[in-house]
Amino acid sequence: MPLNVVVCIKQVPDPEQFNRITLDPATGAIRRAGIPSITNPLDRHAMEEALLIRQRCGGTVSAITMGPPQSRKILEDALAMGCDRGAILCDPAFAGADSLATAYVLSAGIRALGAFDLVLCGNESVDGATGQVTPQLAEFLDIPHVTHARKITLVGEKAALVERVVEGGHLRVEVTLPAAISVLKGINRYRLPTAMGIMAAADREIVEYDCFVFEADGARPESPTRVSEVFESSLKRKVKMLSGKPEAVARELLKRLREMEVF
Ligand SMILES: Cc1cc2nc3c(=O)[nH]c(=O)nc-3n(C[C@H](O)[C@H](O)[C@H](O)COP(=O)(O)OP(=O)(O)OC[C@H]3O[C@@H](n4cnc5c(N)ncnc54)[C@H](O)[C@@H]3O)c2cc1C
Repeated sequence: MPLNVVVCIKQVPDPEQFNRITLDPATGAIRRAGIPSITNPLDRHAMEEALLIRQRCGGTVSAITMGPPQSRKILEDALAMGCDRGAILCDPAFAGADSLATAYVLSAGIRALGAFDLVLCGNESVDGATGQVTPQLAEFLDIPHVTHARKITLVGEKAALVERVVEGGHLRVEVTLPAAISVLKGINRYRLPTAMGIMAAADREIVEYDCFVFEADGARPESPTRVSEVFESSLKRKVKMLSGKPEAVARELLKRLREMEVF
């Protein structure tokens, strides 16, 4: 049976350049200027999984993001990867959204896109990294969810068997569709956009939603949490050089490690 899959993708600063992120000491704001943005890496795995499902069952894959106008770039990339359509939720009212507000806005966008069978997300983003958006999104959509998925197998017409990684092993969970599932890196190897894909993407649609996406229930997103303090952590090491014969140095090293209760 064909499935309509929606994939939530987030634009994040390139993790390879995280060392260039600094804090404004006066305001505590994060300074990301000049750092290139990319699709959250786990969200690429979620898109790949959606495309594999479409290959097997037919249906559609929609990619949706909430973010500033520049986030459109990751949707263009998603279309070039093979997604059928993109949707951007963009409005000044969404700025500074915490995970609950983000999930709420995404749920409204997903509903606005129409009927869906499966929502796929990354297990967490590389920047916010709360891992909360998928469960919160599922609550707003009133559907079940499974996190930490390393394998998804569709069972019959309306269920999926999900291997969910837990400490020391994995669980096999059956979930009825529609459901939201957040995926781990090991689930697949994602494809990269090809030149043909980029050309084909030019004909595909990117839908834009602003805060009027909430008109149906008149509600507005609210962020119940706020950042009270932001600080830069630093790692300080005290170096003590030991010298002498190797046996004596080893003995002294052991003594000091014991004193420090390292073992
Ligand atoms: C109290 C608080 C205040 C914040 N204030 C700001 C702020 O002022 N400015 C700011 O830029 N950020 C802010 N953030 C960060 C922002 O709220 C988070 O980036 C956002 O809520 C998503 O949470 P996350 O990154 O932890 O997502 P996770 O739960 O770690 O992400 C899981 C998955 O959800 C999906 N997902 C997450 N976010 C999106 C999205 N936007 N669009 C589509 N899919 C998505 C992706 O599939 C992702 O892999 C704040 C966070 C908190 C907790």
